[in-house]
Amino acid sequence: MRADATRKPQVIIVGGGFGGVAAARALRHSHAEVLIIDRRNHHIFQPLLYQVATAVLSPAEIAVPLRQLEARQPNLSVLLAEVIGVSLAERAVEAAVPNEGTRKLPFDYLVVATGSRPSYFGHDEFARFAPGLKDLSDAEAIRAKILSAFERADATESQNERERQMTFVLVGAGPTGVELAASLAHLIRVTLRKNFRNIDPAKTRIILLDAASRVLPTFSTQVSSAVTRRLQELGVQVTTGVKVDAVDQNGVTAGGSRIPSATVLWTAGVMASPIPSLLGAKTDRAGRALVDSSLRVADTRGVFVIGDAASVVQNEHPIPGVAQAAIQEGRFVGRAIGSELDGRAAHSHFRYFNLGNMAVVGTNYAVLERGRLQTSGFLTWIIGTVIHVLSLPQLQNRLRVQTQWLWSYFTGQRSSRLIPERAPFVVS
Ligand SMILES: Cc1cc2nc3c(=O)[nH]c(=O)nc-3n(C[C@H](O)[C@H](O)[C@H](O)COP(=O)(O)OP(=O)(O)OC[C@H]3O[C@@H](n4cnc5c(N)ncnc54)[C@H](O)[C@@H]3O)c2cc1C
Repeated sequence: MRADATRKPQVIIVGGGFGGVAAARALRHSHAEVLIIDRRNHHIFQPLLYQVATAVLSPAEIAVPLRQLEARQPNLSVLLAEVIGVSLAERAVEAAVPNEGTRKLPFDYLVVATGSRPSYFGHDEFARFAPGLKDLSDAEAIRAKILSAFERADATESQNERERQMTFVLVGAGPTGVELAASLAHLIRVTLRKNFRNIDPAKTRIILLDAASRVLPTFSTQVSSAVTRRLQELGVQVTTGVKVDAVDQNGVTAGGSRIPSATVLWTAGVMASPIPSLLGAKTDRAGRALVDSSLRVADTRGVFVIGDAASVVQNEHPIPGVAQAAIQEGRFVGRAIGSELDGRAAHSHFRYFNLGNMAVVGTNYAVLERGRLQTSGFLTWIIGTVIHVLSLPQLQNRLRVQTQWLWSYFTGQRSSRLIPERAPFVVS
């Protein structure tokens, strides 16, 4: 890189998700030039993706254009591109820019915040038939699949086909699977209740499968049992301790049994995006870069990995792949870079502060666990609702989401029940 006295230090952040945006904000008063590179033009509030998939909310309500950050932060630029390589020797990232080909962008500091993607545990062939929920396209495709299943069930004259269309299988009973199953149950039993002449939506089967012995395995057994009961009250069949053997266009084989289903959704595991592996860092089994306690990659200068892409151990336990961890790590790294640039000493060790784990199980019920504190029920659901609204990226999102929720709560209706004319169906 040229020695140029007027040149400002360049900080490249790959990924404009929770971690990347927090890192960029923490650098707003620094004299560095900050560049966020993302292959999407928007930041997504992922905790509410399941509500887009079940027609409660529409995509724009839980997303914000990354360009808006540029308007608010003078030292920040955004580039819509996919990072495809990193050269630590040249201290540059290689990005594929639409219509421009590849471009090499030099950095003084690099923050990799590329998040995760669904993991099919070595069975990538399932992906074609069992979409995961990771971005807005996934959420819209799942919504189209769910709504189309009812249209097909209503139209068919075959009883077997009707039953297949009205059987939904969710693989993975972690928070996403639980929240999606409960919201789907509400859609079917409340919103769609009187919408069809030839079928009774109440006869729909929702099956939540997991190889683990209980739902929400990261929560306590008491919470897990309470959530199982709640799901059963909502009409969800919870089947745990069962491994999925096969998924195809006609259904699922799990624990040796065949379940005919037109809609299989994958809410099981995640693995890191491939970018951390390009850094030469050691990775764990999920592809996350093993970083030190200051979130740096060993044997590099100024290269950090944060959020779902990083494997960080604290008190001998891995820090979970959740939004609050990514945000705290992003802030820490942003401040560390800012301090280094100002010649000040930075905090050397990142400490994760767990604000608690929450799962919303349909309307009027949520569970929250923080250390030994456990709460559940209506009040917890209200708290969860307020936390979600306040955590949304901007005022416009907060107002729109609140309005939709109030409308949906009091009328039982969901306003986003649209099947695009050219819906990206995975299978019928
Ligand atoms: C359905 C769902 C529900 C969730 N619910 C909760 C919840 O209730 N509470 C909670 O705390 N957490 C929840 N999480 C987890 C939480 O969203 C993640 O832990 C968090 O988003 C991780 O932040 P991140 O910055 O590491 O990655 P992300 O927020 O995923 O951001 C990664 C960004 O990197 C970009 N990117 C990836 N690869 C490239 C590339 N090669 N080039 C350019 N850009 C790239 C992506 O486009 C994306 O914008 C949920 C996740 C999902 C999927």
